[in-house]
Amino acid sequence: MSKAIVSSLYDSDVFKMACRQFDKAADAINLPEDLRDRTKYPRRCLAVSLPVRRMDGSVTVFEGYRVQHNVSTGPSKGGIRFHQHVTLGEVAALAMWMSWKTSLVGLPYGGAKGGVIVDPTLLTPTELEHLSRRYMQEMVNFFGPHTDVPAPDVGTNERIMGWMMDTYSNHVGHLSPAVVTGKPISLGGSLGRREATGAGVAYLTKKYLEDLKIPLNKTTVAIQGFGNVGSETAIALAAYGAKIIAISDYTGGIYNAKGIDLKKALNYIRTQKTLKDFDGGEPIANEQLLELKCTVLAPAALERVITDKNAKKLKCRVLAEAANGPTTNAADKIIEERGDIELIPDVLCNSGGVVVSYFEWLQNLSSFYWSRDEVMQKLFGILDKAKDSVDVQKKKFGFSRRLAALTLGIQRVADAKAARGLFP
Ligand code: NAD
Repeated sequence: MSKAIVSSLYDSDVFKMACRQFDKAADAINLPEDLRDRTKYPRRCLAVSLPVRRMDGSVTVFEGYRVQHNVSTGPSKGGIRFHQHVTLGEVAALAMWMSWKTSLVGLPYGGAKGGVIVDPTLLTPTELEHLSRRYMQEMVNFFGPHTDVPAPDVGTNERIMGWMMDTYSNHVGHLSPAVVTGKPISLGGSLGRREATGAGVAYLTKKYLEDLKIPLNKTTVAIQGFGNVGSETAIALAAYGAKIIAISDYTGGIYNAKGIDLKKALNYIRTQKTLKDFDGGEPIANEQLLELKCTVLAPAALERVITDKNAKKLKCRVLAEAANGPTTNAADKIIEERGDIELIPDVLCNSGGVVVSYFEWLQNLSSFYWSRDEVMQKLFGILDKAKDSVDVQKKKFGFSRRLAALTLGIQRVADAKAARGLFP
Protein backbone atom coordinates (compact mmCIF):
# COMPACT_ATOMS: atom_id res chain seq x y z
CA MET A 1 0.00 0.00 0.00
CA SER A 2 1.41 3.41 -0.94
CA LYS A 3 0.19 6.93 -0.40
CA ALA A 4 0.44 9.74 -2.92
CA ILE A 5 3.40 12.05 -2.58
CA VAL A 6 1.76 15.41 -3.20
CA SER A 7 2.99 18.98 -2.90
CA SER A 8 1.11 21.94 -1.54
CA LEU A 9 0.26 23.10 -5.09
CA TYR A 10 -3.51 22.94 -4.59
CA ASP A 11 -3.50 23.61 -0.86
CA SER A 12 -6.66 25.52 0.12
CA ASP A 13 -9.78 25.04 2.23
CA VAL A 14 -11.91 24.33 -0.81
CA PHE A 15 -9.52 21.70 -2.24
CA LYS A 16 -9.33 20.03 1.17
CA MET A 17 -13.13 20.05 1.29
CA ALA A 18 -13.36 18.31 -2.11
CA CYS A 19 -10.69 15.79 -1.02
CA ARG A 20 -12.54 14.98 2.21
CA GLN A 21 -15.75 14.43 0.24
CA PHE A 22 -13.82 12.06 -2.03
CA ASP A 23 -12.26 10.16 0.91
CA LYS A 24 -15.67 9.66 2.51
CA ALA A 25 -17.17 8.39 -0.75
CA ALA A 26 -14.15 6.15 -1.47
CA ASP A 27 -14.50 4.59 2.00
CA ALA A 28 -18.24 4.09 1.48
CA ILE A 29 -17.69 2.07 -1.72
CA ASN A 30 -14.48 0.38 -0.51
CA LEU A 31 -12.53 1.80 -3.41
CA PRO A 32 -9.30 -0.23 -3.74
CA GLU A 33 -6.33 1.61 -2.24
CA ASP A 34 -4.27 1.58 -5.45
CA LEU A 35 -7.08 3.36 -7.35
CA ARG A 36 -7.74 6.07 -4.79
CA ASP A 37 -4.98 8.61 -5.28
CA ARG A 38 -5.00 8.52 -9.04
CA THR A 39 -8.77 8.97 -9.10
CA LYS A 40 -8.60 11.77 -6.53
CA TYR A 41 -5.77 14.05 -7.68
CA PRO A 42 -5.84 16.19 -10.86
CA ARG A 43 -4.15 14.72 -13.90
CA ARG A 44 -2.38 17.98 -14.78
CA CYS A 45 -2.54 21.75 -14.54
CA LEU A 46 -1.19 24.73 -16.40
CA ALA A 47 -0.55 28.22 -14.98
CA VAL A 48 0.03 31.10 -17.38
CA SER A 49 0.87 34.80 -17.32
CA LEU A 50 -1.47 36.93 -19.40
CA PRO A 51 -0.14 40.39 -20.31
CA VAL A 52 -2.91 42.76 -21.40
CA ARG A 53 -2.49 46.27 -22.84
CA ARG A 54 -4.81 48.62 -20.89
CA MET A 55 -6.74 51.53 -22.35
CA ASP A 56 -4.26 54.00 -20.78
CA GLY A 57 -1.35 52.33 -22.62
CA SER A 58 0.04 50.46 -19.58
CA VAL A 59 0.35 46.66 -19.38
CA THR A 60 -1.15 44.47 -16.63
CA VAL A 61 -0.13 40.82 -16.26
CA PHE A 62 -2.95 38.55 -15.05
CA GLU A 63 -2.50 34.96 -13.86
CA GLY A 64 -4.61 32.15 -15.35
CA TYR A 65 -5.02 28.43 -14.68
CA ARG A 66 -6.48 25.32 -16.20
CA VAL A 67 -6.75 22.09 -14.24
CA GLN A 68 -7.59 18.86 -16.07
CA HIS A 69 -8.68 16.55 -13.29
CA ASN A 70 -9.79 13.49 -15.21
CA VAL A 71 -9.24 12.63 -18.87
CA SER A 72 -9.84 8.87 -18.57
CA THR A 73 -13.51 8.98 -19.51
CA GLY A 74 -13.35 11.43 -22.45
CA PRO A 75 -12.27 14.99 -23.21
CA SER A 76 -12.13 16.99 -20.00
CA LYS A 77 -14.98 19.48 -19.59
CA GLY A 78 -15.55 22.47 -17.34
CA GLY A 79 -16.02 26.21 -17.15
CA ILE A 80 -13.61 29.13 -16.94
CA ARG A 81 -14.01 31.53 -14.01
CA PHE A 82 -12.96 35.19 -14.02
CA HIS A 83 -12.92 36.35 -10.42
CA GLN A 84 -10.54 38.29 -8.22
CA HIS A 85 -10.36 35.50 -5.61
CA VAL A 86 -9.61 32.60 -7.97
CA THR A 87 -6.83 30.30 -6.70
CA LEU A 88 -5.27 27.19 -8.21
CA GLY A 89 -6.70 25.16 -5.31
CA GLU A 90 -10.22 26.43 -5.99
CA VAL A 91 -9.89 25.61 -9.69
CA ALA A 92 -8.64 22.11 -8.80
CA ALA A 93 -11.61 21.51 -6.48
CA LEU A 94 -14.06 22.71 -9.13
CA ALA A 95 -12.33 20.44 -11.70
CA MET A 96 -12.71 17.47 -9.35
CA TRP A 97 -16.45 18.15 -8.95
CA MET A 98 -16.77 18.34 -12.76
CA SER A 99 -15.33 14.82 -13.00
CA TRP A 100 -17.94 13.38 -10.64
CA LYS A 101 -20.72 15.41 -12.30
CA THR A 102 -20.08 14.37 -15.91
CA SER A 103 -19.70 10.80 -14.75
CA LEU A 104 -22.86 10.86 -12.61
CA VAL A 105 -25.04 12.03 -15.52
CA GLY A 106 -23.36 9.61 -17.94
CA LEU A 107 -21.62 12.05 -20.30
CA PRO A 108 -18.58 10.91 -22.35
CA TYR A 109 -16.37 13.50 -20.66
CA GLY A 110 -13.77 13.91 -17.95
CA GLY A 111 -13.58 16.95 -15.67
CA ALA A 112 -11.65 20.24 -15.79
CA LYS A 113 -11.90 23.88 -14.74
CA GLY A 114 -10.12 27.12 -15.54
CA GLY A 115 -9.74 30.48 -13.91
CA VAL A 116 -8.15 33.91 -14.14
CA ILE A 117 -7.46 36.15 -11.14
CA VAL A 118 -9.30 39.26 -12.30
CA ASP A 119 -12.33 41.34 -11.40
CA PRO A 120 -13.92 41.47 -14.88
CA THR A 121 -16.16 44.37 -13.87
CA LEU A 122 -13.05 46.58 -13.70
CA LEU A 123 -12.03 45.92 -17.34
CA THR A 124 -13.32 47.69 -20.44
CA PRO A 125 -14.90 45.42 -23.10
CA THR A 126 -11.72 45.74 -25.20
CA GLU A 127 -9.47 44.77 -22.25
CA LEU A 128 -11.78 41.82 -21.49
CA GLU A 129 -11.55 40.67 -25.10
CA HIS A 130 -7.73 40.89 -25.05
CA LEU A 131 -7.58 38.94 -21.78
CA SER A 132 -9.96 36.23 -23.02
CA ARG A 133 -8.13 35.79 -26.32
CA ARG A 134 -4.73 35.74 -24.57
CA TYR A 135 -5.95 33.04 -22.15
CA MET A 136 -6.97 30.81 -25.07
CA GLN A 137 -3.77 31.64 -26.99
CA GLU A 138 -1.57 30.60 -24.04
CA MET A 139 -3.50 27.34 -23.64
CA VAL A 140 -4.14 26.59 -27.29
CA ASN A 141 -2.28 23.26 -27.17
CA PHE A 142 -4.09 22.29 -24.00
CA PHE A 143 -7.63 22.73 -25.40
CA GLY A 144 -9.34 20.94 -28.30
CA PRO A 145 -12.73 19.39 -29.18
CA HIS A 146 -11.32 15.95 -28.27
CA THR A 147 -8.99 16.94 -25.42
CA ASP A 148 -10.49 19.68 -23.23
CA VAL A 149 -13.62 21.76 -23.86
CA PRO A 150 -14.25 24.89 -21.75
CA ALA A 151 -17.54 26.72 -21.03
CA PRO A 152 -18.71 29.78 -19.06
CA ASP A 153 -18.61 29.99 -15.26
CA VAL A 154 -18.66 32.87 -12.76
CA GLY A 155 -17.60 36.13 -14.46
CA THR A 156 -17.56 34.72 -18.02
CA ASN A 157 -20.32 34.55 -20.61
CA GLU A 158 -21.29 33.78 -24.21
CA ARG A 159 -19.34 36.69 -25.63
CA ILE A 160 -16.12 35.56 -23.91
CA MET A 161 -16.66 31.99 -25.16
CA GLY A 162 -17.08 33.41 -28.69
CA TRP A 163 -13.74 35.25 -28.48
CA MET A 164 -12.02 32.11 -27.18
CA MET A 165 -13.51 29.93 -29.93
CA ASP A 166 -12.43 32.46 -32.57
CA THR A 167 -8.86 32.59 -31.18
CA TYR A 168 -8.60 28.79 -31.23
CA SER A 169 -10.09 28.59 -34.76
CA ASN A 170 -7.62 31.17 -36.08
CA HIS A 171 -4.78 29.12 -34.60
CA VAL A 172 -5.82 25.81 -36.16
CA GLY A 173 -6.77 27.49 -39.46
CA HIS A 174 -10.43 26.50 -39.67
CA LEU A 175 -13.66 27.12 -37.77
CA SER A 176 -13.71 24.82 -34.74
CA PRO A 177 -16.93 25.52 -32.81
CA ALA A 178 -16.76 22.28 -30.76
CA VAL A 179 -13.70 23.53 -28.83
CA VAL A 180 -15.88 25.70 -26.54
CA THR A 181 -19.50 25.46 -25.37
CA GLY A 182 -21.83 28.20 -24.14
CA LYS A 183 -21.11 30.23 -27.29
CA PRO A 184 -23.42 32.79 -28.92
CA ILE A 185 -26.06 31.09 -31.11
CA SER A 186 -24.55 32.82 -34.18
CA LEU A 187 -21.27 30.94 -33.59
CA GLY A 188 -22.79 27.49 -33.10
CA GLY A 189 -24.15 27.87 -29.58
CA SER A 190 -27.06 25.63 -28.64
CA LEU A 191 -30.59 26.87 -28.16
CA GLY A 192 -31.34 26.48 -24.46
CA ARG A 193 -27.69 26.54 -23.26
CA ARG A 194 -27.90 29.98 -21.63
CA GLU A 195 -30.80 28.92 -19.43
CA ALA A 196 -29.83 25.23 -19.10
CA THR A 197 -28.20 25.27 -15.66
CA GLY A 198 -31.00 27.26 -14.01
CA ALA A 199 -33.70 25.37 -15.90
CA GLY A 200 -32.14 22.11 -14.64
CA VAL A 201 -31.97 23.38 -11.05
CA ALA A 202 -35.64 24.40 -11.24
CA TYR A 203 -36.71 21.11 -12.86
CA LEU A 204 -35.00 18.97 -10.21
CA THR A 205 -36.32 21.22 -7.42
CA LYS A 206 -39.84 20.78 -8.83
CA LYS A 207 -39.36 16.99 -8.87
CA TYR A 208 -38.21 16.92 -5.25
CA LEU A 209 -41.09 19.20 -4.19
CA GLU A 210 -43.47 16.76 -5.90
CA ASP A 211 -41.87 13.89 -3.92
CA LEU A 212 -42.44 15.91 -0.75
CA LYS A 213 -46.02 16.70 -1.85
CA ILE A 214 -45.39 20.44 -1.59
CA PRO A 215 -47.43 22.32 -4.22
CA LEU A 216 -45.48 24.77 -6.38
CA ASN A 217 -48.04 27.51 -5.74
CA LYS A 218 -47.29 27.26 -2.00
CA THR A 219 -43.52 27.34 -2.55
CA THR A 220 -41.38 30.34 -1.59
CA VAL A 221 -37.82 30.65 -2.89
CA ALA A 222 -34.70 32.56 -1.79
CA ILE A 223 -31.79 32.68 -4.23
CA GLN A 224 -28.25 33.87 -3.46
CA GLY A 225 -26.53 35.09 -6.65
CA PHE A 226 -28.50 36.58 -9.53
CA GLY A 227 -26.12 35.86 -12.41
CA ASN A 228 -26.67 33.30 -15.14
CA VAL A 229 -27.63 30.40 -12.88
CA GLY A 230 -29.49 32.32 -10.15
CA SER A 231 -31.61 34.40 -12.52
CA GLU A 232 -32.51 31.45 -14.77
CA THR A 233 -33.40 29.36 -11.71
CA ALA A 234 -35.69 32.19 -10.55
CA ILE A 235 -37.34 32.57 -13.96
CA ALA A 236 -38.00 28.82 -14.32
CA LEU A 237 -39.28 28.32 -10.75
CA ALA A 238 -41.56 31.36 -11.10
CA ALA A 239 -42.88 29.90 -14.38
CA TYR A 240 -43.72 26.68 -12.45
CA GLY A 241 -45.79 28.82 -10.04
CA ALA A 242 -43.36 29.39 -7.14
CA LYS A 243 -42.94 32.78 -5.46
CA ILE A 244 -39.41 34.22 -5.46
CA ILE A 245 -39.17 36.14 -2.18
CA ALA A 246 -35.45 37.03 -2.15
CA ILE A 247 -32.59 37.47 -4.61
CA SER A 248 -29.07 38.85 -4.21
CA ASP A 249 -25.73 39.54 -5.85
CA TYR A 250 -22.33 40.55 -4.49
CA THR A 251 -23.67 44.01 -3.60
CA GLY A 252 -26.42 42.61 -1.32
CA GLY A 253 -29.97 41.34 -1.55
CA ILE A 254 -33.64 42.25 -1.86
CA TYR A 255 -36.50 40.69 0.11
CA ASN A 256 -40.17 40.95 -0.81
CA ALA A 257 -42.69 38.67 0.94
CA LYS A 258 -45.22 39.35 -1.83
CA GLY A 259 -42.78 38.13 -4.49
CA ILE A 260 -40.03 39.88 -6.45
CA ASP A 261 -41.00 41.31 -9.84
CA LEU A 262 -38.40 39.34 -11.84
CA LYS A 263 -38.92 41.26 -15.08
CA LYS A 264 -38.23 44.50 -13.27
CA ALA A 265 -35.14 43.01 -11.55
CA LEU A 266 -33.75 41.69 -14.85
CA ASN A 267 -34.31 45.06 -16.54
CA TYR A 268 -32.61 46.80 -13.63
CA ILE A 269 -29.57 44.48 -13.89
CA ARG A 270 -29.41 45.08 -17.64
CA THR A 271 -28.94 48.81 -17.15
CA GLN A 272 -27.31 49.06 -13.69
CA LYS A 273 -25.21 45.80 -13.82
CA THR A 274 -25.96 45.02 -10.13
CA LEU A 275 -28.97 44.88 -7.77
CA LYS A 276 -27.61 47.77 -5.68
CA ASP A 277 -30.46 50.21 -4.85
CA PHE A 278 -33.06 48.09 -6.69
CA ASP A 279 -36.40 49.22 -5.23
CA GLY A 280 -38.34 45.95 -5.66
CA GLY A 281 -38.33 45.14 -1.92
CA GLU A 282 -36.44 45.67 1.32
CA PRO A 283 -32.64 45.48 1.33
CA ILE A 284 -31.26 42.33 2.98
CA ALA A 285 -27.68 41.12 3.58
CA ASN A 286 -26.48 37.96 1.84
CA GLU A 287 -26.02 36.25 5.22
CA GLN A 288 -29.61 37.09 6.22
CA LEU A 289 -30.96 35.77 2.93
CA LEU A 290 -29.52 32.32 3.65
CA GLU A 291 -31.40 32.19 6.96
CA LEU A 292 -34.80 33.30 5.61
CA LYS A 293 -37.85 31.15 6.20
CA CYS A 294 -38.63 29.74 2.76
CA THR A 295 -39.48 26.46 1.06
CA VAL A 296 -36.45 26.44 -1.24
CA LEU A 297 -33.05 28.00 -0.63
CA ALA A 298 -30.80 28.07 -3.71
CA PRO A 299 -27.24 29.28 -3.22
CA ALA A 300 -26.19 30.23 -6.79
CA ALA A 301 -22.99 32.23 -6.25
CA LEU A 302 -19.71 30.95 -4.78
CA GLU A 303 -18.43 28.08 -2.62
CA ARG A 304 -18.59 27.61 1.16
CA VAL A 305 -21.44 29.96 2.08
CA ILE A 306 -23.39 27.41 4.16
CA THR A 307 -21.09 26.76 7.10
CA ASP A 308 -21.16 25.35 10.63
CA LYS A 309 -22.10 28.92 11.73
CA ASN A 310 -25.37 29.17 9.78
CA ALA A 311 -26.34 25.52 9.04
CA LYS A 312 -28.27 25.27 12.31
CA LYS A 313 -30.18 28.45 11.44
CA LEU A 314 -31.40 27.48 7.96
CA LYS A 315 -35.20 27.61 7.70
CA CYS A 316 -35.71 26.04 4.27
CA ARG A 317 -37.28 22.68 3.44
CA VAL A 318 -35.19 22.12 0.27
CA LEU A 319 -31.58 23.20 -0.22
CA ALA A 320 -30.95 23.27 -3.96
CA GLU A 321 -27.20 23.59 -4.56
CA ALA A 322 -27.21 25.62 -7.76
CA ALA A 323 -23.61 26.74 -7.11
CA ASN A 324 -20.66 24.36 -6.91
CA GLY A 325 -19.50 23.54 -3.38
CA PRO A 326 -21.78 25.97 -1.47
CA THR A 327 -21.95 23.75 1.65
CA THR A 328 -18.88 23.03 3.80
CA ASN A 329 -18.34 19.49 5.12
CA ALA A 330 -19.10 20.64 8.69
CA ALA A 331 -22.39 22.20 7.54
CA ASP A 332 -23.22 19.05 5.60
CA LYS A 333 -22.91 17.03 8.79
CA ILE A 334 -25.22 19.42 10.67
CA ILE A 335 -27.82 19.29 7.87
CA GLU A 336 -27.67 15.49 7.84
CA GLU A 337 -28.15 15.36 11.63
CA ARG A 338 -31.06 17.82 11.47
CA GLY A 339 -32.80 15.56 8.96
CA ASP A 340 -35.46 18.16 8.09
CA ILE A 341 -33.86 19.56 4.92
CA GLU A 342 -33.87 17.82 1.53
CA LEU A 343 -30.48 18.60 0.01
CA ILE A 344 -30.06 18.40 -3.76
CA PRO A 345 -26.27 18.13 -4.11
CA ASP A 346 -24.39 20.36 -6.56
CA VAL A 347 -23.11 17.55 -8.81
CA LEU A 348 -26.73 16.62 -9.52
CA CYS A 349 -28.51 19.95 -9.00
CA ASN A 350 -26.55 22.12 -11.47
CA SER A 351 -25.67 19.37 -13.97
CA GLY A 352 -28.13 20.77 -16.56
CA GLY A 353 -25.44 23.18 -17.73
CA VAL A 354 -22.91 20.54 -18.69
CA VAL A 355 -25.64 18.32 -20.18
CA VAL A 356 -26.64 21.05 -22.64
CA SER A 357 -22.95 21.86 -23.22
CA TYR A 358 -22.68 18.23 -24.32
CA PHE A 359 -25.65 18.76 -26.67
CA GLU A 360 -23.95 21.87 -28.07
CA TRP A 361 -20.72 19.91 -28.66
CA LEU A 362 -22.66 17.09 -30.38
CA GLN A 363 -24.47 19.61 -32.62
CA ASN A 364 -21.15 21.29 -33.51
CA LEU A 365 -19.45 17.98 -34.33
CA SER A 366 -22.34 16.85 -36.54
CA SER A 367 -23.23 20.34 -37.93
CA PHE A 368 -26.85 19.42 -37.30
CA TYR A 369 -28.83 21.72 -35.03
CA TRP A 370 -31.76 20.96 -32.72
CA SER A 371 -34.82 22.97 -31.69
CA ARG A 372 -35.06 24.39 -28.16
CA ASP A 373 -37.89 21.96 -27.37
CA GLU A 374 -35.70 19.02 -28.40
CA VAL A 375 -32.87 20.30 -26.21
CA MET A 376 -35.11 20.76 -23.16
CA GLN A 377 -36.88 17.43 -23.60
CA LYS A 378 -33.56 15.56 -23.83
CA LEU A 379 -32.17 17.55 -20.88
CA PHE A 380 -35.10 16.68 -18.61
CA GLY A 381 -34.87 13.01 -19.64
CA ILE A 382 -31.22 12.86 -18.55
CA LEU A 383 -31.96 14.70 -15.29
CA ASP A 384 -34.82 12.30 -14.49
CA LYS A 385 -32.48 9.35 -14.95
CA ALA A 386 -29.73 10.91 -12.84
CA LYS A 387 -32.21 11.80 -10.06
CA ASP A 388 -33.58 8.25 -10.02
CA SER A 389 -30.11 6.69 -9.89
CA VAL A 390 -29.11 8.95 -6.98
CA ASP A 391 -32.30 8.22 -5.04
CA VAL A 392 -31.96 4.45 -5.60
CA GLN A 393 -28.32 4.56 -4.39
CA LYS A 394 -29.40 6.65 -1.35
CA LYS A 395 -32.07 4.16 -0.37
CA LYS A 396 -30.06 1.03 -1.13
CA PHE A 397 -27.09 1.97 1.06
CA GLY A 398 -28.68 4.43 3.51
CA PHE A 399 -26.40 7.22 2.21
CA SER A 400 -27.08 10.95 2.30
CA ARG A 401 -28.09 12.25 -1.13
CA ARG A 402 -24.65 13.88 -1.54
CA LEU A 403 -22.84 10.64 -0.71
CA ALA A 404 -25.13 8.76 -3.09
CA ALA A 405 -24.34 11.16 -5.95
CA LEU A 406 -20.60 11.26 -5.27
CA THR A 407 -20.23 7.49 -4.94
CA LEU A 408 -21.97 6.97 -8.31
CA GLY A 409 -19.78 9.58 -10.01
CA ILE A 410 -16.53 8.44 -8.42
CA GLN A 411 -17.19 4.74 -9.05
CA ARG A 412 -17.57 5.28 -12.81
CA VAL A 413 -14.32 7.25 -13.06
CA ALA A 414 -12.46 4.68 -10.95
CA ASP A 415 -13.84 1.80 -13.05
CA ALA A 416 -12.57 3.47 -16.24
CA LYS A 417 -9.15 4.03 -14.70
CA ALA A 418 -8.96 0.44 -13.50
CA ALA A 419 -9.90 -0.86 -16.95
CA ARG A 420 -7.55 1.44 -18.86
CA GLY A 421 -4.33 1.11 -16.84
CA LEU A 422 -1.99 3.61 -15.25
CA PHE A 423 -1.55 6.13 -18.07
CA PRO A 424 -4.84 7.97 -18.56
P1 NAD B 1 -22.34 34.55 -12.80
O1 NAD B 1 -21.04 35.27 -12.84
O2 NAD B 1 -23.24 34.66 -13.98
O3 NAD B 1 -23.18 34.98 -11.52
C1 NAD B 1 -22.64 34.92 -10.23
C2 NAD B 1 -23.57 35.70 -9.31
O4 NAD B 1 -23.13 35.56 -7.96
C3 NAD B 1 -23.60 37.21 -9.60
O5 NAD B 1 -24.91 37.69 -9.42
C4 NAD B 1 -22.69 37.77 -8.52
O6 NAD B 1 -22.95 39.12 -8.20
C5 NAD B 1 -23.04 36.86 -7.37
N1 NAD B 1 -22.04 36.86 -6.31
C6 NAD B 1 -20.69 36.85 -6.42
N2 NAD B 1 -20.13 36.89 -5.19
C7 NAD B 1 -21.15 36.90 -4.31
C8 NAD B 1 -21.24 36.93 -2.90
N3 NAD B 1 -20.13 36.94 -2.17
N4 NAD B 1 -22.45 36.94 -2.34
C9 NAD B 1 -23.57 36.90 -3.10
N5 NAD B 1 -23.57 36.87 -4.43
C10 NAD B 1 -22.37 36.87 -5.02
O7 NAD B 1 -21.98 33.01 -12.51
P2 NAD B 1 -22.89 31.74 -12.78
O8 NAD B 1 -22.47 31.17 -14.07
O9 NAD B 1 -24.31 32.06 -12.51
O10 NAD B 1 -22.35 30.72 -11.67
C11 NAD B 1 -22.89 30.68 -10.33
C12 NAD B 1 -22.56 29.34 -9.70
O11 NAD B 1 -23.10 28.29 -10.49
C13 NAD B 1 -21.06 29.02 -9.57
O12 NAD B 1 -20.87 28.23 -8.42
C14 NAD B 1 -20.79 28.17 -10.80
O13 NAD B 1 -19.64 27.37 -10.67
C15 NAD B 1 -22.07 27.36 -10.84
N6 NAD B 1 -22.39 26.75 -12.14
C16 NAD B 1 -22.49 27.51 -13.26
C17 NAD B 1 -22.84 26.90 -14.46
C18 NAD B 1 -23.06 27.69 -15.72
O14 NAD B 1 -23.52 27.11 -16.71
N7 NAD B 1 -22.80 28.98 -15.76
C19 NAD B 1 -23.04 25.52 -14.52
C20 NAD B 1 -22.95 24.77 -13.34
C21 NAD B 1 -22.63 25.41 -12.17
